[in-house]
Amino acid sequence: MYIDKNGRTWLKGNLHTHTTRSDGRRSPEDTVALYRENGYDFIALTDHWTVSETRDGGGILELSGCEYDIGGDPRAGIYHIVGAGLKKDPQLKRGTPAQDIIDAIRDAGGFPILAHPAWSLNDPASAAQLKNLGAVEIFNSVSDLPCNCRPYSGSFCDLLALCGVFLPLVATDDTHFYRGEQCRSYIMVRADKPDPDEIFAAVAARDFYATQGPLMTVTQSGRDIAVDCTPCVSVAFFSDSVWSGRRAVYDENGGITHAEYKAEKSDTFVRVEIRDKDGRYAWSSYINL
Ligand SMILES: [Zn+2]
Ligand SMILES: [Zn+2]
Repeated sequence: MYIDKNGRTWLKGNLHTHTTRSDGRRSPEDTVALYRENGYDFIALTDHWTVSETRDGGGILELSGCEYDIGGDPRAGIYHIVGAGLKKDPQLKRGTPAQDIIDAIRDAGGFPILAHPAWSLNDPASAAQLKNLGAVEIFNSVSDLPCNCRPYSGSFCDLLALCGVFLPLVATDDTHFYRGEQCRSYIMVRADKPDPDEIFAAVAARDFYATQGPLMTVTQSGRDIAVDCTPCVSVAFFSDSVWSGRRAVYDENGGITHAEYKAEKSDTFVRVEIRDKDGRYAWSSYINL
């Protein structure tokens, strides 16, 4: 939990986690304890095809969840859909099409997240056909080195936005306890208390950001976007114009704490990425202009 200088409360959470209930290497109890010790306010245990329960984890909110993975050939479409905050078990069977999984998660009161699209080699035009998704992972820790190599889905997300689909951009660990991905990438959500409905309403309203440590506040005034942040090396304003001479602010000494961007005439959306001296990123969701 973090209270900013305006007195607003931000909750820290991870929405994608595996345990020994599926292919994770630590027990649910040890996993929850680790995240609690690292200052997390909520965690969703999302084992493959195994629905967990929402409960008080003694200082951390355990959100119910499950990851439904379908397909094995990227040409035909591999979709891993995380359902977080389920209010009941949707009783899904392997082989269910992605859209039916998303709809069943919604019917069960859950929040469907498209997991690691870069790792899955998802095609944005095909993924854009999916309706009712709640969010997409822009970064997935376990998909990074040393075990994998496609953790970052920013280009996929921007191509999805070009298709008119503006999903909230979350970062998760997808924890398996393979080699150090735990407690690395998370979301900071503007919510007063760790209540499931409040958390998912804030994510849906893009009242949060994804981060690996840097803190930031992004404000919009018409076509002017401003960022205030903990000291950073770079602030980048991504948009749907391929060229802009003012979209990146860089200081190799890592002293940037404020940056501004005036949207180009051709921009219809902007999102912000910042990076600190330790190579840790934070990502905003889309700001539509
Ligand atoms: Zn997955
Ligand atoms: Zn996973």
